[in-house]
Amino acid sequence: MGSQLCNGDDFEVPEIKIKFTKLFINGQFVDAVSGKTFETRDPRTGEVIAHVAEGDKEDVDLAVKAARQAFDHGKWPRMSGYERGRIMMKLADLIEQNTEELAILDTLDAGKLFALGKLMDIPGTVHYLRYYAGAADKIHGETLKMSKEFQGYTLKEPIGVVGHIIPWNYPSGVFFLKVSPALAAGCTMVVKPAEQSPLSALYYAHLAKEAGIPDGVLNVVTGFGPTAGAAISSHMDVDKVSFTGSTEVGRLVMEAAAKSNLKSVSLELGGKSPLIIFDDADVNMAVDLANKAIFFNKGEICAAGSRIYVQEGIYDEFMKKAAENAKKWVVGDPFDPRVHQGPQVDKEQFEKVLKYIEHGKREGATLLTGGRPCGDKGYYIEPTIFTDVKEDMLIAQDEIFGPVMSLMKFKTIEEAIERANNTRYGLASGIVTKDLNIANRVSRSIRAGSIWINCYFGFDVDCPFGGYKMSGFGKDMGLHAIDKYLQVKSVVTPIYGSPW
Ligand code: NAD
Repeated sequence: MGSQLCNGDDFEVPEIKIKFTKLFINGQFVDAVSGKTFETRDPRTGEVIAHVAEGDKEDVDLAVKAARQAFDHGKWPRMSGYERGRIMMKLADLIEQNTEELAILDTLDAGKLFALGKLMDIPGTVHYLRYYAGAADKIHGETLKMSKEFQGYTLKEPIGVVGHIIPWNYPSGVFFLKVSPALAAGCTMVVKPAEQSPLSALYYAHLAKEAGIPDGVLNVVTGFGPTAGAAISSHMDVDKVSFTGSTEVGRLVMEAAAKSNLKSVSLELGGKSPLIIFDDADVNMAVDLANKAIFFNKGEICAAGSRIYVQEGIYDEFMKKAAENAKKWVVGDPFDPRVHQGPQVDKEQFEKVLKYIEHGKREGATLLTGGRPCGDKGYYIEPTIFTDVKEDMLIAQDEIFGPVMSLMKFKTIEEAIERANNTRYGLASGIVTKDLNIANRVSRSIRAGSIWINCYFGFDVDCPFGGYKMSGFGKDMGLHAIDKYLQVKSVVTPIYGSPW
C-alpha cells in the first residue's frame, strides 16, 4: 500500500490573472526580439498556465547593455548604502503586501505547497531583502598600517554587472538569495529564472520598479538554459555569474566563464546529503526528521537528506516506523491545506524520478514503501523508501531530486563517517544523537558545507549556506554572501619621515 492520496475537492483553488509574461529590460516589459514565447505548465495537471517571452542571446545582449549603462553611469552603485537599503526595504514591503498572489504563482508554476509559500517562501524573500538592506550601509574596507614608507586602506567596490541563473525548486527564495546581496553591494544585474517557473520573477521585476529601483539595475530575461542562460555565462560584459542549479550545468557555466572574459563565478549545486542516526536517538523524532529531510518539497531540495544511515541497534524499529510515517504523508493538490507533498515540477522530473526508482529495483535494492506515481493526472509520486541499498548503487550516488530515500544500516561511528563522505557532493548533512562528543566528532569529519545536529534544514539568512566538493563554492546567506558581489581595491600612499 502506498501513501495517502488526497483527492478532495473541498478546498479553494484561488483564481488569479497572470499579469506579467514579458521580459523586463531597462525598466520596461518587452517582447523577445524573436517574438517567440514558451509555455509554462501547471504540474498539478500538465496544462498550460501562460505563454512567456522566450529570451535568447539578443535579449540578453540588450539586458546586459542596460545593466552596464546603469552600472557605469547610473545612480544605484553611486548612492549611499543607506539609500539603497531604504529602497530594498520598500521592495520588501511591497512583496509582503502581495504575498498571496506570489505564493499562488509559485504553486501554479512549480507545484509548491501554497500554505508553505505564504508562510515560508514569500516571507523568506522579504526577510532576505531586509537583512541585506540593513547590511548595505555597513560594507567596510580595512586600514593597513603597512610599513614606515607606506600606509593604505582597502575599498570594497561592487563587482559590476551580475548574471544570476536560478533553478525552479525555490523560484522566489533563490531569486532573492542572489539578488538581495547583489543589490546591497551596488551591483546591477540580469536574472534568468528557470524555464519551468518564470512567473514570480517577472512579478518581482514589476515590484522592484514600483519600489524605486532605477531602470536597468534589475533586468529579468526568461528563457531556456542553453540559449538565454548560456548567453549570460559567456557574455563578455558580465562581470560575475552567480549560478544555482545542477552540477552538470554548473560545469558548463564555469567553462563558458573561462572561455569568455574570465568572469567571477559562484556555484550552488546539487547534493546527496547524508543524515546519520545513532543508536541513542529518540526513534520517533529521528523518523520524523528523516522523512521530512527527504519528502519535504517533494524531495526537490538541493540539501535533501537522501541517504539515511541508521545504526544497527535501532535500524529495524526505525525502518518499520519510517514506512508507517511515509504512508501517512499526504500527497495531493498543493492548494489543499491537508496535503504534505504536491506534484514534481514537470513531466521530465516526474519521469526521471520514476526511472531512478525502477533502476533501484533492478540494482537489487528493496522497495520498502511507495515507488509508484499517484493520481490520474499531474506529476505526483508516492514517498518512496528503499532498503538494502549498497553504496555503489546509482540511487545512493546520484541526486534523484525527488521523494526517494535510500535507507542504510551501519555499525560504528568510523564506518558512518566514511560512508557519509563517500560521495562526490558535499552540500549538507545531519546527525541525530544525544552524545555531544559523537556530534562534535562527526561534525568535524564530514566534508560538507552545513552540518545540522538533531535538526535538518537548519536554514537562516544569517547562516552561510553552500557546498564543498562538487556541490559548488561561494556561500549564499550570511554576510559572506555580499562579498561575492564585491571586489577589494587597495589604495596606498607613501609616508615620509615616519619613525614607526
Ligand atoms: P539546472 O542546472 O537544470 O538549471 C538551473 C538553471 O540553469 C536554469 O535556469 C536553467 O535554465 C539554466 N541552464 C540550463 N542549462 C544552462 C546552460 N547551458 N548555461 C547556462 N544556464 C543553463 O537545474 P534545475 O533542474 O533547475 O534545478 C535543480 C538543481 O539545482 C539540483 O541539482 C539542485 O540540487 C540544484 N539546486 C542547488 C541549490 C543550492 O543552493 N546548492 C539550491 C537549489 C537547487
